[in-house]
Amino acid sequence: MIKKKVTLNFNNLKHKIKLFYIQTKKIIPLANPRGVKLLCELCGKTAYYQCLGCRITYYCSEKHQKIDYEGIHKKICSFLVPLKEVSEFLGSEDQRIKLQKEVRAKKLEIIHLATTEAKKNMFEENYELAIPAALQALRYSQDVYKKKSIESIPSYLLLGKATTGLKNFKQAEDYLLLAKYALFKSKKQDYKIRYQLHRNLGILYTFKKQYDEALFELSNDIYYSSLLHGPEHIYVSGGYFQLGNIFYYQKKYNNALSAYSHVINIWNSYFKKKNNEVFDEALQAEAQNMFTRILEIRKELLSESEKNIELAQVYMAFGQLHYMTKNYMEAKSNFEEALKRYQLEYNSSNINIIQIKSFLREIELNI
Ligand SMILES: [Zn+2]
Ligand SMILES: [Zn+2]
Repeated sequence: MIKKKVTLNFNNLKHKIKLFYIQTKKIIPLANPRGVKLLCELCGKTAYYQCLGCRITYYCSEKHQKIDYEGIHKKICSFLVPLKEVSEFLGSEDQRIKLQKEVRAKKLEIIHLATTEAKKNMFEENYELAIPAALQALRYSQDVYKKKSIESIPSYLLLGKATTGLKNFKQAEDYLLLAKYALFKSKKQDYKIRYQLHRNLGILYTFKKQYDEALFELSNDIYYSSLLHGPEHIYVSGGYFQLGNIFYYQKKYNNALSAYSHVINIWNSYFKKKNNEVFDEALQAEAQNMFTRILEIRKELLSESEKNIELAQVYMAFGQLHYMTKNYMEAKSNFEEALKRYQLEYNSSNINIIQIKSFLREIELNI
């Protein structure tokens, strides 16, 4: 029996990485030991390059090495060697159990790190860089949990979203259907996962102009997100927004406008409640995108007589979004635009006018 002494040290490689990351060693696939086929970390094709930081990660090309490095590998390269050594460790039962626990914790850390990194890149619309991180998160969640476990679904959703962003619809559909299958297999009633899955499928089918399928997915999205949060919640608004987009593409403009109205009403009443619930950057960006598009479409479709109030509502939502995120200059210009339009329709006792004026006074104190 071969005994190998292993101590876990996840930090000792860091200094090397800086020096070596961009260096890869070219390898000749045929020279590998029989039966060992080295595959690209990113695409699974035959590998010709090896990372000199960990020496256990391979790539088909320098391009894939670079994308993987930027997307996630630079953050996890130093974790990989100790993890590999542990899998070859032959020691006493107690030692093995202890090591396995540490390894599991380390793998969970990688999942968390990779998921965060993928989300960050998604948020910045760096879809290509989001993919390596999401792939790592998927790989390790399938390793730690069962292969088709519910824990693998968030990674599939990220991959589905990123590939949709890259307009690689075939692959996006594959990922999302794998998520659907994993959800079905798990037999768990996780409404959050469920509505996110339906929304992503809805967005994908909208891109593919398969509007019937998209409408089916989005009605499921709205159903499950409403069950979870209540029908008037901001998390539900994204579903109505997508619904509005489909109606718009189908030239059913009245339906589109009323779906968009629902979105704006949900957000304006959310702001009115002045709840201190913090929402993350991703939701902030989503709200920003929705308001921008709704503003454009209202400008395009509404008659002059309808415009003042309807546009004022969107500027009001914008103003409050910026106010909440302490972006006071932006908030100010949106409130002023809303005020100007409301004043053309109402007198100074109108509740919206009073509210905007009080916001503007608050802003003056803050800038
Ligand atoms: Zn590759
Ligand atoms: Zn490496």
